[in-house]
Amino acid sequence: MRYNAHAVHSRRRNAKRRGLAVLLGVVLTALVLVVGSGVILFTSASPAWSGLTHTQSVTRELAKTGLPGLLPVHLDELEVSRFLELINIEYSVENELDPDLLVNARTSVPTGGQDEWLHYRALQAMAELCTAARAEGIATVYVRSGYRSYDNQEQLYWEAEDKSFVQPAGHSEHQTGLAADIFPIARSEREEQQAVRWLAANSWRFGLILRYTEAKRRITGIAGEPWHFRYVGLPHSWYMFRYDLTLEEYIESLRQSGGYVVSLEGREYTVAYAMPQDGFILLPEGLDFDISRDNTGGYIATSGE
Ligand SMILES: [Zn+2]
Repeated sequence: MRYNAHAVHSRRRNAKRRGLAVLLGVVLTALVLVVGSGVILFTSASPAWSGLTHTQSVTRELAKTGLPGLLPVHLDELEVSRFLELINIEYSVENELDPDLLVNARTSVPTGGQDEWLHYRALQAMAELCTAARAEGIATVYVRSGYRSYDNQEQLYWEAEDKSFVQPAGHSEHQTGLAADIFPIARSEREEQQAVRWLAANSWRFGLILRYTEAKRRITGIAGEPWHFRYVGLPHSWYMFRYDLTLEEYIESLRQSGGYVVSLEGREYTVAYAMPQDGFILLPEGLDFDISRDNTGGYIATSGE
């Protein structure tokens, strides 16, 4: 083997770097332990995917409590949305959706000639997704199974012979008006698979998540449904896609980290998680937030939208 001074040198350099990295790690850990939860943590979470166009990482995580500049705000003073509500077998839809928020999807997306009702924000996102799928030469995609009332869901559940894809009434995301089943119209199986992959990889750009994958069946309790998309908004859809998290895991990670800051396409988003105390939640000062219930007791504040 040829002696390679450069290699030896770079090995030494690497060893030195590793040493420095370990030292840095120790110092940071100590800092976190000493300063406690009041600091802003820089994250080095590894990406769940590589390639594609988006390689941004979270700029920083907010600590769980004690962040400087937190203001208590009473929940009664806030307009609280439901975009990030977790609906699954454990957490049910508490109230029927305000019908004024529903729009007939038929007017803005292909629905196969059917009336499909959706929350206007979800419809806007799905219309953008459909337009992009066409513009990027993927396929024409159509939207089915939008909003269902409790009664619709109950009827569907009792009529279904195979209940693995149907949730009992009160436990279906379709009752939120934020979810729909999206299918490509493809000329071949290959084209269909390509379109399904594209939808899974690009839906986050429009604030949508692919809610049920076979890989996460143990967490969601639902078999893989490559057609079921749910609106959550940006940057949440980005985060869940980037770090390969279900909504269940995302809420849990927010609860632990307290939130995060990220820049996406030049827009800086701050996401803060808050648990109410005596009707008050703590919000970082000086930012305009959209607040959503998470349906597990906490609230998620998003600024930058
Ligand atoms: Zn569905």
